[in-house]
Amino acid sequence: MAKATGLARREFLLGAAGVLATPYIVTPAQAAGQTDERRLSFHNPHTNENFDAVYFSKGQYDEQAMREFYRIARDWRQEKEVKIDNRTINIAYNMQKLLEQSTPLMLVSGYRTPKTNRLVHGATHSFHMRGEALDITHPHVSTSMLHKVALRIRGGGVGYYPSEHFVHVDCGPVRTWRG
Ligand SMILES: [Zn+2]
Repeated sequence: MAKATGLARREFLLGAAGVLATPYIVTPAQAAGQTDERRLSFHNPHTNENFDAVYFSKGQYDEQAMREFYRIARDWRQEKEVKIDNRTINIAYNMQKLLEQSTPLMLVSGYRTPKTNRLVHGATHSFHMRGEALDITHPHVSTSMLHKVALRIRGGGVGYYPSEHFVHVDCGPVRTWRG
């Protein structure tokens, strides 16, 4: 497990203390299945591809939309794609929802083959190699805000990379670190 740095830990405690204490909660309407549509939009700056689709509705994942997402989140260096974990896609969805931005999220890194992971100096057992991690940025939102939003969701791992302007999210154990 990555060691939480001072700042990352302070941010985390800040959240626990109340400023961002409320984790994302399903509203009664959503719980009743009235508005369960989950729409996600992403831009991949490496390939200049876009994803914008309702990937979940009426209690089901849309196969075609999911395949489109796997495609945009592929290892573009090696042209290989895998399934991206639903839980990680849902974390991205919740981030987009909390940010209330109509501009798409930007996908810095999705799936990585071991070869690409070595090339970018990823962690030895990176969740990116399992299709369980996404590195995300946004053209109109600070990395600090993206980080706060990701922590609030408590969906898994959250890595804060302020100098590289992105936040890593994965569906592994809840933990946080600063890159
Ligand atoms: Zn990452």
